[in-house]
Amino acid sequence: MKHIASCSFGKDSLATVLLALEHGEPLDEAVYCEVMFDEYTSGEVPEHRDFILDCAIPFLERSGVRVVTLRSPITFVQSFYRILKKGANAGKLNAWPLCGLCCIQRDCKLPPIRQYKRSLERDAVQYIGIASDEEERLARLDGTRKVSLLSKYNLTEHDATELCRSAGLLSPIYHFAKRNGCFFCPNAGMNELRHLHRHHPELWQKLMDCQKAENKATELFNRSYRIDELDELFRAEENQLTLFENMMTPAA
Ligand code: SF4
Repeated sequence: MKHIASCSFGKDSLATVLLALEHGEPLDEAVYCEVMFDEYTSGEVPEHRDFILDCAIPFLERSGVRVVTLRSPITFVQSFYRILKKGANAGKLNAWPLCGLCCIQRDCKLPPIRQYKRSLERDAVQYIGIASDEEERLARLDGTRKVSLLSKYNLTEHDATELCRSAGLLSPIYHFAKRNGCFFCPNAGMNELRHLHRHHPELWQKLMDCQKAENKATELFNRSYRIDELDELFRAEENQLTLFENMMTPAA
């Protein structure tokens, strides 16, 4: 019977892998699905992508865990520029994913995972990174072939963070975000977006370029703002900061 761990390389999934290794739980593969922004650009926040490639995957491979990386042929950009065929917005660009109803999840993330699962034997067991203090999500595992090792070994979300930290496997994304997700995620918090604007202007510009497209079904990037409104907001903040720093710098 095959045992696989679904791995986003966030704290909960990596803590699950660490528990499996520590307790000698059967583990054949860690399965990671990378959403792509376009053909060449990962949808991961760069700090997290580097952590995955330079730290987490090498660690798993050194530990004897095979890592399977899945990618959909459909990218964010393809999804964005897709012309809708039905509904009130027929004829418009699909444009930005919606909060709570993410078409990227539906079109780019889930299909390769479903296809991979179909290739497994029916009795395969899937380890899921759900912590012992996430009762509602745990209840949904009842009657499935999905198992939470965090629950089995009674680790809360906080414990999972500490386990990863002590193993040197805590993604740097947690320095500025509560969770790991695509850099274009409509659920991203303001700090994550501020970080993207300041530290990854080339990715931010790609989002600004998307905003320029006409005839979009959705104009808002998230529940409250268009991406160009966020741009204005963050620029104003950065200008304020520069002004303040200049005031605090003693004249030569
Ligand atoms: S992280 Fe956000 S944008 Fe990416 S698939 Fe999930 S909900 Fe969609």
